[in-house]
Amino acid sequence: MSLIWRPFTQMQKASLPLTVVKAKNSTLFLKNKQKVIDAISSWWLITHGHCKIELVKALQETAENLDQILFANFTHEKAEQLVKELSELLPKSLDKFFFSDNGSTAIEVALKMAVQSFAQKGQEHRKEFLSFKRSYHGDTAGAMSVSARGVFTKAYKDFLFPIHLCSQGQLSTDPDKLFYKDFERKIEKHHKKLCAVIIEPLIQGAGGMIVWPPAVLERICRITKSAGLYLIFDEIMTGFGRTGTLFALDQIKTKPDILCLSKGLTGGFLPLSLTISTEAIYKDFLSQKKEKALLHGHSFTGNPLSCSVALANLRLIKKNKAKLQKKWNWIEKTNKQRLAVFKNHPMVKDVRAKGLIAVIQKEDNYESFFSEQASQKALQKGVFLRPLGGTVYILPPYCITEKELNKTWDVIESLF
Ligand SMILES: *Cc1c(COP(=O)(O)O)cnc(C)c1O
Repeated sequence: MSLIWRPFTQMQKASLPLTVVKAKNSTLFLKNKQKVIDAISSWWLITHGHCKIELVKALQETAENLDQILFANFTHEKAEQLVKELSELLPKSLDKFFFSDNGSTAIEVALKMAVQSFAQKGQEHRKEFLSFKRSYHGDTAGAMSVSARGVFTKAYKDFLFPIHLCSQGQLSTDPDKLFYKDFERKIEKHHKKLCAVIIEPLIQGAGGMIVWPPAVLERICRITKSAGLYLIFDEIMTGFGRTGTLFALDQIKTKPDILCLSKGLTGGFLPLSLTISTEAIYKDFLSQKKEKALLHGHSFTGNPLSCSVALANLRLIKKNKAKLQKKWNWIEKTNKQRLAVFKNHPMVKDVRAKGLIAVIQKEDNYESFFSEQASQKALQKGVFLRPLGGTVYILPPYCITEKELNKTWDVIESLF
């Protein structure tokens, strides 16, 4: 019996977890001597690969001199340098960086920024959010509130604030229908009370890896902006190459007012997140009064160790930019080729690919038994997968080799 209460796990049914003793590149080494390909980057975190040496070294070097400092009073060079170098990779309009230490919290901060910014401009009535069905923005109360409702939120439903959830129709197969109608109708109906639209750009992750065409996203963004609402991009999963470009926002013209990053920010190595806003929003909080400040923070805000690893991650990306882009393109191309056999498969409802992510949807059911069975079977064959209900997907680290990627696909084929 383990003393550990695991995340997202029905402990009564759960089998004992396997022990990982080492993780390197795409491989998890288990205590039972098995080697497993981490085909989902340990929940979409690991970017370059496990225990990437440059990140290990950055952590070691910093840890000898700095542990934690109080970010409300002090600053440190790792954080300063990180935001400077990150801002060079982001739209110029996004230039105020607020630190926290996980994705859900980055979302909470974004929601607070949006509501408080409008209130301090004398528009207290603008405090409602518009989000999308199947969206997932995290597990804290505010983040759950702006996410789709389902088994994950059911027990707390009375404590979540109400939002406007838009349906998106069959995005992957029929991008131009249904979708705009509901969105446009809700914006028109509620725009006087709305403060922001929150969106996972290009790919909705936990909701089933739903792919949005860039043109659809562009149009939603334009409508949001012309209604005078803030556009919040949750790039916690899509950031750092997952959609085939460094950020999903690189694939559209309209830029968000608030951007949330986490997961790949440190290459998946340490907890860190950022809520990045425009100067205009930042200015709404400037006043002689303390109550007008963004009165939010956490014990580990701006942790120097996390910041130093994030900085090393950015430098790796900048140094290897062309090589990485080539690798991302190769992964996407290989995924698309290997998806072909599933297209007319009787067990498969839909297939889709975008950037590093490839999806085979067997059934649209989060409760599907298939998930558990497929995961077990794949693990026995040396590949770690964690299907989202009836949806199998891969999201490998950049370092995955041709042999490993093909093995992953062979194992997926054997599940169908
Ligand atoms: C993982 C995720 C979050 C939540 O991040 P945590 O660090 O797990 O709290 C929020 N939004 C998206 C899109 C995510 O994928």
